[in-house]
Amino acid sequence: MVKTDIIIIGAGPVGLFTVFEAGLLKLRCHLIDSLPQPGGQCSEIYPKKPIYDIPGFPEILAGELIDNLMRQAAPFKPGFTLGEAAFSIEKTEENAFIVTTVKGTQHSAPIIIIAGGLGVFEPRKPPIENIEQYEDRGVEYIIKDPSMYQGKQCVLAGGGDSALDWSIYLVENAIASKVTLVHRSASFRGHLDSVQKVIDLSEQGRLELITEAEVTGLKGTGALEKVLINHQKLGEIHREADHFIPLFGLKPSLGPMANWGLALEKGAIKVNTLDYSTNVPGIYAVGDVNTYENKLKLILCGFHEGTMAVQSAFARIYPEKKNVLKYTTVNGIQGFA
Ligand SMILES: Cc1cc2nc3c(=O)[nH]c(=O)nc-3n(C[C@H](O)[C@H](O)[C@H](O)COP(=O)(O)OP(=O)(O)OC[C@H]3O[C@@H](n4cnc5c(N)ncnc54)[C@H](O)[C@@H]3O)c2cc1C
Repeated sequence: MVKTDIIIIGAGPVGLFTVFEAGLLKLRCHLIDSLPQPGGQCSEIYPKKPIYDIPGFPEILAGELIDNLMRQAAPFKPGFTLGEAAFSIEKTEENAFIVTTVKGTQHSAPIIIIAGGLGVFEPRKPPIENIEQYEDRGVEYIIKDPSMYQGKQCVLAGGGDSALDWSIYLVENAIASKVTLVHRSASFRGHLDSVQKVIDLSEQGRLELITEAEVTGLKGTGALEKVLINHQKLGEIHREADHFIPLFGLKPSLGPMANWGLALEKGAIKVNTLDYSTNVPGIYAVGDVNTYENKLKLILCGFHEGTMAVQSAFARIYPEKKNVLKYTTVNGIQGFA
């Protein structure tokens, strides 16, 4: 049994910064995440994309932000249970919570802070019969490291910003040897600038744009070699491809969090904005996972929410102690031994 002051479910940017703020109050944290690495959406979906609205960083790659947050939390020695989704929460007679993961690892603490983001998120997969057979053999649903497409023939599919932006990126940075973008309609959902850019690149012969068409089949011995495309006017055509990257978005789902007796609204956990507490005393929810009036799903808002939640957690754990706000410039960082 892992014992700590605060169990944080979700090791995304908000969970990681919450460790730092808890540490300033001398509260120890243990994080649980279903993914094998910390960083949440920043590491899993867009590690190489620059973020421009983190205070004090005019521009920072999402992956670098996570490295920095890990460094900032390090003096407070957080524990990690990675690659295991938190599955159940029980309350003990001693007023502690026990969080058990899908693999049976148990954690106990008087406070739980849920920083579960979008929950367990799964890519929307196109209905192609044998697609699973080619996963990690040429089919990817998320672009994590564009350098893996260097010199490769890539077929992307989708009509939103992800499909448009990545097609442009792979062409303009001379990464893929050939980029084909397939979209089932003649109009796109993405930003007009990106749509125009894709049309320009197609007219310049630097990108092949196939609209009113869908990828319907995949072929290859072992790894992917070819995609079959059903075109509304031309019928079945095919393209050689080392990679097929359908970017149809992610399906967020609260997963196990939906069964923890918490008040929910539109797939998110309702909180009191006084301290980001849920309807269950001792359980807080911060970051993308919570909802309240005027909620903004931004990293900087999550940082504030985590800060407020740990102040309230301190008062619950030590009702007799008075917590006086101390500036880090005055007190420095008193890490844990
Ligand atoms: C492409 C893209 C670009 C973005 N750009 C910006 C931007 O420029 N600026 C900005 O502020 N925001 C941006 N965002 C949004 C930002 O990434 C989110 O607001 C932020 O990641 C929320 O952080 P979080 O820690 O609350 O949740 P997440 O980052 O979603 O992390 C939550 C973690 O909880 C884990 N989890 C969920 N359920 C469980 C469970 N039951 N057990 C264990 N672990 C669980 C998940 O695996 C995940 O790792 C962007 C998002 C995307 C997708």
